[in-house]
Amino acid sequence: MVDVLVIGGGNAALCAALTAREAGATVLMLEASPRAWRGGNSQHTRNLRCMHDEPQDVLIDAYPEEEFWQDLLKVTGGQTDEALARLVIRASSGVRPWMRRHGVHFQPSLSGALHTARTNAFFMGGGKALVNAYYRSAEQLGVQLRYQAPVDRIELDGERFVAAWVGSERIPARSCVLAAGGFESNREWLREAWGRNERGEYPSDQFLIRGTRFNTGTLLRFMLDAGADSVGEPTQAHMVAIDARAPLYDGGICTRIDCVSLGVVVNRDAQRFYDEGEDFWPKRYAIWGRLVAQQPGQTAWSIIDAKAVGRFMPPVFPGTSAQTLSELAGALGLPEPALLHTLQAYNAACRPGSFDHTRLDDCRTEGLSPAKSHWALPIDKPPFTGYALRPGVTFTYLGLCTDETAAVRFGGRASPNLYVAGEMMAGNVLGRGYTAGVGMSIGTAFGRIAGQRAAWSAQGEAAHGAA
Ligand SMILES: Cc1cc2nc3c(=O)[nH]c(=O)nc-3n(C[C@H](O)[C@H](O)[C@H](O)COP(=O)(O)OP(=O)(O)OC[C@H]3O[C@@H](n4cnc5c(N)ncnc54)[C@H](O)[C@@H]3O)c2cc1C
Repeated sequence: MVDVLVIGGGNAALCAALTAREAGATVLMLEASPRAWRGGNSQHTRNLRCMHDEPQDVLIDAYPEEEFWQDLLKVTGGQTDEALARLVIRASSGVRPWMRRHGVHFQPSLSGALHTARTNAFFMGGGKALVNAYYRSAEQLGVQLRYQAPVDRIELDGERFVAAWVGSERIPARSCVLAAGGFESNREWLREAWGRNERGEYPSDQFLIRGTRFNTGTLLRFMLDAGADSVGEPTQAHMVAIDARAPLYDGGICTRIDCVSLGVVVNRDAQRFYDEGEDFWPKRYAIWGRLVAQQPGQTAWSIIDAKAVGRFMPPVFPGTSAQTLSELAGALGLPEPALLHTLQAYNAACRPGSFDHTRLDDCRTEGLSPAKSHWALPIDKPPFTGYALRPGVTFTYLGLCTDETAAVRFGGRASPNLYVAGEMMAGNVLGRGYTAGVGMSIGTAFGRIAGQRAAWSAQGEAAHGAA
């Protein structure tokens, strides 16, 4: 029998598998996807958020623990467990040498990449290169890997893990790490969670999934039904406004539309509905998916003029451009009089200031509702460009409640040999909101804790069994 069974194939699973193996355990990893699609949402990532007290290799200046914590506190509105959050923050400061030993390379932040040169360490080659490096290292260390092995249920003896089932195959192990992601790819569960709105629409039917199609939440649902303690709400998720032309799954990072704070956003009635310049884009991009989800038809349009071009990371597909706003309304299928009225009112409300996209500048509107608080320049320089937006779900926050040992809990009692990491427990730290790069910080910290604990648990059990 294998010591540690790791279920999942993304960053958290790989960190757990590598750590358990380094601790001397025999490890089997079960990944639901085929080899070509291995790595879950982690294959789409670019960076992790790291605490540091002074400049460190690819990171400039300092990003102390307190500032990281305050950032988390702000975005979650207090829906976070301080002890677990600080554990993640501290772990993020010293983890890069370990990552490097397993083949991960880093590079400085790219210009245009959400102002993250100070706070986020970027993976050379992105998340795909990171997961490939970890898989290579896992193979070299003797971790057994199986693809197309979706676990559909767990055999428990009270709070103790006994075996996992893949169809009719029973796979026993001394301990287990659950790292099978959220449930964002389960459209029925999304529908159930989001329900029907006052317009009779099922909003989640319009959601696009930015990452893997394999995060169906099968094990999350199983564990919740089996009485595991939960954390978070099913409708809480990291949701970004993405290009409406993106594919249903795996569109990844390049479908994001990053010009929201440089222009205005209107719904299908050509009405603005939120302050586009409320704060820096990295601190706000993750609320826009939900804002668009609340609009009729779950669609919106980001509209900019020529002054914005070159100031944001260009999307993969060109937008719809026109020389006049009337033509743009026609090309986007928006009601022309309403759009012209909205833009005239906005332009008239823009107060002169010194435009500076790198700080919270004084270009704002006056007497307009909703206001645009920063970077408000009139939309008056052709060509005008519009991008249709739809909600893009990155990952869901409903998960399993855990503690600093990463143990799964049942009625407050910690399992002696079942652990959880990554998106499946990220809601303990991130009850809502998001700050870029923290998903990988959580998965790396808790993946390593879970792997270590699972190895200890298995070794204790093996020693106990031998005695
Ligand atoms: C487009 C995009 C960009 C992102 N960029 C960043 C970023 O730059 N920085 C950051 O910190 N975060 C980012 N995130 C979030 C980040 O991907 C997650 O926080 C992180 O990858 C979670 O890791 P994980 O291992 O828990 O989940 P995943 O990487 O999603 O892995 C889950 C794994 O479980 C497998 N699985 C699912 N069900 C089963 C089953 N029943 N049996 C067996 N295996 C199963 C899946 O196939 C998958 O391999 C991004 C996400 C997306 C979608």
